[in-house]
Amino acid sequence: DYKEIATPSRTKEILKTHGFQFKKSLGQNFLTEPNILRKIVETAQIDKQTNVIEVGPGIGALTEQLALHANKVLAYEIDDRLIPVLEDTLQRYPNVNVIHQDVLKANLIETTQENFPEEFPIKVVANLPYYITTPIMMHFLESELNVSEMVVMMQKEVADRISAKPGTKAYGSLTIAVQYFMEASIAFIVPKTVFIPQPNVDSAILKLTKRDKPAVEVTDEKEFFKLTKASFQSRRKTLWNNLQQTYGKTEEVKAWLAKSLEIAGIDPGRRGETLSLAEFAALSNAMEENK
Ligand code: SAM
Repeated sequence: DYKEIATPSRTKEILKTHGFQFKKSLGQNFLTEPNILRKIVETAQIDKQTNVIEVGPGIGALTEQLALHANKVLAYEIDDRLIPVLEDTLQRYPNVNVIHQDVLKANLIETTQENFPEEFPIKVVANLPYYITTPIMMHFLESELNVSEMVVMMQKEVADRISAKPGTKAYGSLTIAVQYFMEASIAFIVPKTVFIPQPNVDSAILKLTKRDKPAVEVTDEKEFFKLTKASFQSRRKTLWNNLQQTYGKTEEVKAWLAKSLEIAGIDPGRRGETLSLAEFAALSNAMEENK
């Protein structure tokens, strides 16, 4: 008569047994709906040839479903009070390793090498702590860890931004930072009611699949991302004004910017949100070329 951790009754029992009080500051909203967890695992297509990294296991609701399907699960949890809880709830899953650490401070490459000796693909599956959604996404993207897929729950508004298309309000430098490396789509929406405590916002499951090569060819990635950030600095300003804000207003800089825009075939009066990834790449490459 084993009951899964995520069932509302078992969750309540675990919280009571351990006298656990939620910490809002750590983004603690626990999922209490086994069907949604199963849908997350299905979306991530996890099998015994897959290793999984989880961020913020909480009391282990999602971790349990991952452990049942994956080869190994490595989970980072920052809250020391949850470590003994997880030792208790996950004792029947020897393929789980919980690391008591702030994921943003984790050396992902080193830890995964230690924990995943097999050459299996690595997927990140998590119900993220919402107060640091973007830093966590950037931490993984910038780590150079070879993650084949990410299936992550986040506030719907951020999922919309990451999966946005050019010309929309949600499209911005975060869209480009992620879509440069990964293909992004919203898999499904999750109602507030399946969490305890309930968050204030709707959530979405975002699915990201690593591209074989980046979406566009750029001569210098750092400069490319600098350009995209600069272009969205003030959303109401034109590209021309935003670029001068970052690169400078001297005649020399203005001539360089004007020439680069011309080579790339981009009207300086446009706004950053109308440029596709390919156009940003063309502009960035033109700027590098005639530096
Ligand atoms: N996975 C559980 C679930 O789905 O029910 C809990 C998800 S809850 C939204 C986020 C979890 O992330 C919490 O357990 C919280 O303590 C943990 N957390 C918050 N900040 C963290 C950080 N910087 N590093 C690792 N874990 C963190």
